Amino acid sequence: MRIANLAGRAVLLVEDGALDIHKASGGTLGPDPSALFDHWDEVRPQLAGLTGAPVPYTDTDLLAPVPAPRQIFAIGVNYADHAAEADLAPPAPSGCPVTFTKFASCLTGPYTHVGLPEGMVDWEVELVAVIGRRAHHVAAENAWAHVAGLTVGQDLSERLTQWSGPAPQQFSLGKSYPGFGPLGPAVVTVEEFDDPDDLRIGCDLNDVPMQNARTSGMIFSVPELVARLSAVVPLLPGDLIFTGTPAGIGATRVPAVFLKPGDELVSRIEGIGTLSTTFVEA
Ligand code: ZN
Repeated sequence: MRIANLAGRAVLLVEDGALDIHKASGGTLGPDPSALFDHWDEVRPQLAGLTGAPVPYTDTDLLAPVPAPRQIFAIGVNYADHAAEADLAPPAPSGCPVTFTKFASCLTGPYTHVGLPEGMVDWEVELVAVIGRRAHHVAAENAWAHVAGLTVGQDLSERLTQWSGPAPQQFSLGKSYPGFGPLGPAVVTVEEFDDPDDLRIGCDLNDVPMQNARTSGMIFSVPELVARLSAVVPLLPGDLIFTGTPAGIGATRVPAVFLKPGDELVSRIEGIGTLSTTFVEA
């Protein structure tokens, strides 16, 4: 199933368009995309049984599929090739994932214009896991049962703020300007993937490939992240985990490349879809 947010209403994206979840369920399920994951175990079988006449839609009417999560976790240096380009030691697989947050007000839809603040704004395509069942002290082998689905995220980052000391670096602020969390186009439920741990991921800037990798390259896989994070913090339904970015960001290029007005960034993950983000002067 592909769960999306069409102009503020929860929908299923199907072959011929979008199926309004509230209408197709005869009013049993609410229209609020934020509430959909709160009772995921009960909602999921109802969604699977929905039928009706889908309506055509325009991509730009899609909003962030999870518009108001209670918690957003974001993981740094989770791919060895990105750690190398950033000249950072990757965490040991037995260690702790580098964790920060993106404040929820930065989330935006899959097809949007994002204003560029002053500074050096960079891209980071990331697989995003959406929690479907409360997770606290969950073992990795049971973790996928707590994930409702996967979506595409951009961890847009203003590097001057991010790197402004003293330690700890200001990751959360530098990555939370308005619009710095493009998300979507849909939350794709886990059973849709042949192997949810191995998906092609990448992004293009103005049609030039910048990042191209597989999510199997993550140091901490989605189940490992659920285990490590939930060992400390209860993960709540609808929470997001931005799982880290592979190599190919702008800051470590020679010369460095940062986003400028007029740039178009297309981010994609196999089996989920694409985000298209156009940058404008803030
Ligand atoms: Zn990131």
